[in-house]
Amino acid sequence: MEEKRILCIGLVCLDIISVVDKYPQEDSDTRCLSQRWQRGGNASNSCTVLALLGAPSAFMGSLAPGHIADFTLGDLRSYGIDVSHVIPRTGCSFPASIVISNVTNGSRTILHMNRNLPDVTAEDFQKVDLAQYKWIHWEVFVSKDVARSLGFSSAAEAVVGLYPRVKKGAHIVCAWAEEGADALGPDETVVHSDSFPPETVVDTLGAGDTFNASVIFSLSRGQTMQEALTFGCRVAGKKCGIQGYDGII
Ligand code: ADP
Repeated sequence: MEEKRILCIGLVCLDIISVVDKYPQEDSDTRCLSQRWQRGGNASNSCTVLALLGAPSAFMGSLAPGHIADFTLGDLRSYGIDVSHVIPRTGCSFPASIVISNVTNGSRTILHMNRNLPDVTAEDFQKVDLAQYKWIHWEVFVSKDVARSLGFSSAAEAVVGLYPRVKKGAHIVCAWAEEGADALGPDETVVHSDSFPPETVVDTLGAGDTFNASVIFSLSRGQTMQEALTFGCRVAGKKCGIQGYDGII
């Protein structure tokens, strides 16, 4: 029998990445090391990582038809990611991000643009045959950016502080860059993994998406939250040592 897939619902966008070895000064004119187009967006990145880990995955999200959509769909398909739940939205603009990726410290500075592409709706989701999937990812995980904006200054503080707001029985997971990640579940014990820094950090774009996908991969195969956090940090750390995703395994 075919293995059930993992469905990730959310954004696919275009990342236009300029790789530099020194962050540019405002109003300067400098040459960068390289440039590339890369399919981006959190759910789309997580699908890439799941595919590389060997788990069949499917992407569900809105797509504005056109040249960029063709590039994106071709790239999703090249990883064997199922795109049957992509929803074409004619008349919308394709969301794009300009990314300055600094190889000297791995930082990624992102400028987003999403003019008018609507999110997946409850009505779209009702059409999905849930029996095909063993795991469906919307948002469970809390990023450090969201946690910080809510006033938390560590992953442990965030999972403890936000736990009363999640559904009974749920687990909440928060990654925090070099600090690793923490999780909290119904047994009320905070679980932690340190990060696994690569020899040289060159590209942290999508580290969070890599972490989320790896945690989901591990949990969907029956591992404990401690094992999943450790695996998530290990794969995300490896990703930070390379450009893009090919080579995380
Ligand atoms: P986001 O991409 O959402 O900002 P984070 O920066 O919190 O995500 O990183 C997610 C995970 O990636 C961390 O839990 C950690 O395991 C790994 N990671 C990120 N940055 C580094 C780094 N500089 N060194 C080692 N691991 C990192």
